[in-house]
Amino acid sequence: MKVARFHAPGDIRVEDAPEPVAGPGELKIRVRNCSTCGTDVKIFKHGHHHIRPPRVMGHEIAGEVVGTGERVQVIAAIPCGTCEECRRGRRTVCPNQESMGYHYDGGFAEYMVIPAKVRAVDGVNAIPPGVGFAEASVAEPLACVLNGQSLARVGAGDDVVVMGAGPIGCLHVRLARARGAARVFLVDVNAERLAMAADLVRPDAVVDTDAVDQVLKLTGGRGADVVITAAASGAAQEQALRMAARQARISFFGGLPKDAPIIALDSNLVHYRELTIVGANGSSPAHNAEALRLIAEGLVPVADLITHRLPLSQVLDGIDLVSRGAAIKVTIEP
Ligand SMILES: [Zn+2]
Ligand SMILES: [Zn+2]
Repeated sequence: MKVARFHAPGDIRVEDAPEPVAGPGELKIRVRNCSTCGTDVKIFKHGHHHIRPPRVMGHEIAGEVVGTGERVQVIAAIPCGTCEECRRGRRTVCPNQESMGYHYDGGFAEYMVIPAKVRAVDGVNAIPPGVGFAEASVAEPLACVLNGQSLARVGAGDDVVVMGAGPIGCLHVRLARARGAARVFLVDVNAERLAMAADLVRPDAVVDTDAVDQVLKLTGGRGADVVITAAASGAAQEQALRMAARQARISFFGGLPKDAPIIALDSNLVHYRELTIVGANGSSPAHNAEALRLIAEGLVPVADLITHRLPLSQVLDGIDLVSRGAAIKVTIEP
């Protein structure tokens, strides 16, 4: 079968590999869609300390179980299910977390094996009728977005700012609407990408320069109730604090490059305005199941966000599209 394997930074090869064989407790699936995201770009450029090459990449996975034909979506982050955090229900911050496409071969392949550990934490979800494989593969990033917005308590009547108009930003806009946000504003420094995203997700306003001033103007000087940074930008995080309303919640959804993780923030803004700053680290198996339900019920449509469908042989083109911000969602069809 064909797979796309990471060998070293800058070196992903589409090559032949033997079909994997499922051991006890494992599940073999025929991958139908495995979508790409900024994480794949990061791995391609810099590698990842959890990846020991060669490794089949791909973590936004949907396919058919070999033998039964059951249509399934698979989690990416695998909590251990037994540590103190997992026992307390905090599965997104399990210190023993492993990931598909990192510790285990992922979905850029015709066939793959789902580890027993994934099944043990209910990490394989049946795809509801009417939901395509490509849409189902977007349940994983939507699950991460769901985790972020639940930690930031996005709810009815909120004015929400999403900074970053990539696929994650688009999902944030859609989910905020589904959760009853009053208005959603989309911010990006790349005017072209902003226009492409806004065309699809129709925010109440778009902002490409002077983000803080513009958001204050749009909110009558109050600021936003929730600000979500869906970009690996310290500047965006600093701006987020300054455009936040009193008692606002700020989600540092996107992580920063590991060589530049320090930002400057006015701690008195946090103190006097009673701000809450939250992080977000992936998603739990329950978030994946919930994301699939939101897609199936039409509450968060994702089909139109899939702008490119490519065969496995073009996985590098897909990663390039994502890296240039020239696509919303790129999905690979092995
Ligand atoms: Zn991803
Ligand atoms: Zn754990």
